[in-house]
Amino acid sequence: MKKEFYKILSLLVLGITIGINPLIAQNTDLPNVVILATGGTIAGSAETGTQTGYTSGQIGIQTMIDAVPGISELANITGEQISNVGSQDMSIEIWLTLANRINELLATDEVDGIVITHGTDTQEETAFFLNLVVKSDKPVVTTGSMRPSTAVSAEGPLNLYNAVAVAANPKAKGHGVLVVMNDQILGAHSVTKTNTTSVQTFMAPGHGQMGTVIYGQMEFYRSQHGINTTASEFSVDGITELPRVDIIYACADCSPDLIDLSVKAGAKGIVIAGVGNGNMTASMLNACKKAADKGVVVVRSTRVPTGYVLRNAEINDDENNTIASDELNAQKSRVLLMLALLKKRDNKNIQELFYSY
Ligand code: ASP
Repeated sequence: MKKEFYKILSLLVLGITIGINPLIAQNTDLPNVVILATGGTIAGSAETGTQTGYTSGQIGIQTMIDAVPGISELANITGEQISNVGSQDMSIEIWLTLANRINELLATDEVDGIVITHGTDTQEETAFFLNLVVKSDKPVVTTGSMRPSTAVSAEGPLNLYNAVAVAANPKAKGHGVLVVMNDQILGAHSVTKTNTTSVQTFMAPGHGQMGTVIYGQMEFYRSQHGINTTASEFSVDGITELPRVDIIYACADCSPDLIDLSVKAGAKGIVIAGVGNGNMTASMLNACKKAADKGVVVVRSTRVPTGYVLRNAEINDDENNTIASDELNAQKSRVLLMLALLKKRDNKNIQELFYSY
């Protein structure tokens, strides 16, 4: 009895010291999961249950947890509100706060897994960023919803339940950062939003879903593609900002002006969401070469949802001083490039990063 008392006391003291809600030590038979809330439609609300208009990031973390019956049987849960924004307003500042907090929490023995609630618009970018900078093999899972919390058939509560079930399960360890939405487990490397309004919006073209989770019962079929978390060379330790990288979308008869403007505005990197295999108009390519010759790193990605951008295929990257994005879409190419540019590297090294992450 006395021994148990001292065990609980020491957990409480540790919890207070590292800033975790001490209630995390509730049931020693259950894993401890921390939910970090950032906003999004999962925390959104509307006047009625059937309207299309609503505001993201309205309800707090505790209301979200309270809306999920049975969640406390999966894990001891504590919640922290990191931000409350629609993910169209997700920022590098929030990313850095989130990543540092996750690394701090997962470094302790008291936390077994993390769930991040997030808007769906930029969820793939946050998940991929965390996949590159989280320094732990413990489960880190992002989730969200397409319908606001007040909607008829809001899917947020079940997504949150499934996300906690995955984060609490040791089978999810070592898989990198995961996205759990609509009964699917997807890898941060490959996941992308494919539909503007449907609850079946997240897919992983090329690699497919990594697993399934149904009412908390989960199964993995494959591991995450690409280097991640503990094997990643990237770190945000002591980092307060990331270098500016712009994305420029290509189309028929596209002018080079935006590339020149981006360079003028101080971009250290430019990602082209090219047509087809990372192609663009001759004048755009010329502007890219000029930018690259000035030291701006130019990555050719694609606006096409599936497939590779191949080095030296239709465009000669060696001659134009450009990088091929390989499998990464434009928004994930930007994330990787911002992290890569934290250190001085040559194009050969950056190209290797695109092949391996
Ligand atoms: N605009 C919302 C957001 O990303 C959409 C959503 O969460 O589904 O925050």
